Amino acid sequence: MQTYRVIEVDVSTGSWRLVEHPLGEILGPVDLGIEVHYRDETWRCDPLAPCNTLVLGLGPFTGSPLFGSNRGVAVFRSPLSRTLHVSTVGGIGYKMRGMGAHAIVIRGAAKEPSVLIIEGDETGVKRVTVEALGTDVWRVYGKCGVYSLAGHLIAEHRDLFKTLKPVVLVAGPASLTTRAGAIVAVHYDPVTLEVIRGFVDVAGRGGPGTVMARAHGIVGIVAGGTWRPESINPRLSNRKLIESIARSVAGEPYGKLVTEKTRKYRFDERLGTGGTFGVNYVHYRDLIPMLGYASVYLEKVARLKLYEAVAEYFWKPFQEEAGTNPKKWRTCGEPCPANCKKLVKGTKVDYEPFNALGPFSAIIVFEETRRLVELADEAGVDAIEAGYWVAWVLELAARGVIEPRDACLDERPCWDPILLAEKPRECSARNARLARIILEKILHEGGRGCPVLQLIAERGLRGAARELAERLDTDPRSYTVYAAFGEEGYMTLNLYWTPGLVAPVYVTGKYWTNYSPTFMEPEEFAKTAYERIINEYLVDNAGFCRFHRGWLEKLIQAMYREILGVDKNLREHARRMYARIALYSRLAKAEPSHWETARTRDLVATIAAETGHTQWAERMVKDPRAALDWWERFKRELDKQIGVMQQDA
Ligand code: SF4
Repeated sequence: MQTYRVIEVDVSTGSWRLVEHPLGEILGPVDLGIEVHYRDETWRCDPLAPCNTLVLGLGPFTGSPLFGSNRGVAVFRSPLSRTLHVSTVGGIGYKMRGMGAHAIVIRGAAKEPSVLIIEGDETGVKRVTVEALGTDVWRVYGKCGVYSLAGHLIAEHRDLFKTLKPVVLVAGPASLTTRAGAIVAVHYDPVTLEVIRGFVDVAGRGGPGTVMARAHGIVGIVAGGTWRPESINPRLSNRKLIESIARSVAGEPYGKLVTEKTRKYRFDERLGTGGTFGVNYVHYRDLIPMLGYASVYLEKVARLKLYEAVAEYFWKPFQEEAGTNPKKWRTCGEPCPANCKKLVKGTKVDYEPFNALGPFSAIIVFEETRRLVELADEAGVDAIEAGYWVAWVLELAARGVIEPRDACLDERPCWDPILLAEKPRECSARNARLARIILEKILHEGGRGCPVLQLIAERGLRGAARELAERLDTDPRSYTVYAAFGEEGYMTLNLYWTPGLVAPVYVTGKYWTNYSPTFMEPEEFAKTAYERIINEYLVDNAGFCRFHRGWLEKLIQAMYREILGVDKNLREHARRMYARIALYSRLAKAEPSHWETARTRDLVATIAAETGHTQWAERMVKDPRAALDWWERFKRELDKQIGVMQQDA
């Protein structure tokens, strides 16, 4: 019988056990996460308390030569959304699977900052230990945060790293100071064991690093070994089988299929560039969210003017160094022909972190943003969330809603889009300097001494905005955008101009929705969002990189059947599991709640206008109740789609 192998560890005592779930009951790490969180009833638990179990797993195809099959998946109750969240990190399974299991379940809390070390041998899990760091974690972080901590762990366990080449996952300073800390996979040279700076893979969204470090006292995980999943299931390594699945289901050789479907991420000949950064600026142009989404208020001509400056000062430097040069392309750590990671000066360049701390924060000179992304990576924060903080504070200070000194700033930012387009270097330099102050204060000092920044560090964006709204004449919530959950939860959006990212879905801040820049009647939109949710669930649950979804979604049913021997209707399964997530959010009192900020409503109204749905746009602008109507009809339809099974969850 094929099983999904799980190490359950109580880090307060170091005790652990191996649990094997029949494949068929658990199809992957998201299933496991849901199962565990129901068993532990974590909806009763503060997200920062030890009872908020952290599940970190790989997909059941790890060990196979299938491309993209080594993603790590964290499932936890998010300190931001306050409901279940699923956050993924690239490539870690390639090293981590050697630990002898597919997943780790972390319960309890270590008494002091500690490291979880898991070693596997040919027979399975050999040793699981919880070791106190033994020294002040802040001293270890020093100036280089996650890199210093990873270097420290490698130095402390040099023999283990030399022989087993394990994965090293760490939580950085931001996990201790904010609710948005990431789990960061740090790469190192396999021969010299030197840490490679500037190139990390991150499970960032929703704050999994914060849960790992603050709820459980674990600041690092070292996991690897010599166990091979294919020793249990030889079909995993059967290339002929993979080839025959591809040919029979998709009618094409596997390699050709993968190459075609991952073109955007490697190099798109039609656009002359590659990777999410390279392609998105060319493809979306003025639809890219800029200036904290204030760009949605600009006329087309003004947006295009700004976009032209972005193309020149932000996109072009990337394009010249990495856009067309395969020597600057890397994988996330597993063999993959997509080579989607593009490096500029050693820094990995992806669209969302760069847009968040770039045009979204009114910084459109590439090098300025690159240095800020480096800072965010070192601190181990979700750079998208950090971009929302920066953009919001800069805009509040620029518009005089707060005084710059309330955020420890010494001058007003440059927030005028025309000025930004006309004086990109001057404006970007000023804003980048201020952004650095904001980030350093929040990420390294928890915002102490800077009232607005301290609120953000402690309560997140929504909590800070609500608190400030009671004190200020102007409602500061009008200058930001988020999806609200229950009374306190929220999630900032991935950076696209679409209603799908603020629509009332149960897991947001990722692509479990229809995220096209489009508009539809709410019922129709809900159906398309639900369709994508089911597909994305299956991709994450199989432990695959979503950049491979183009071919994976075609083959996945046959892959489970032929390779794993699981003959189950996957879409039905995903629907049932999503219904359980929806029910969880109700139990956690963190269901999607109405749009709380004017800009969130306006984001929807403006894309309606942009795409020719003028009646909806006019209604929404005239009367917030029209936006509420769209929101409620969307939710009613989504709940109808999942509702029957939600009763059974
Ligand atoms: S597409 Fe990129 S992130 Fe995905 S598996 Fe390939 S290299 Fe890794």
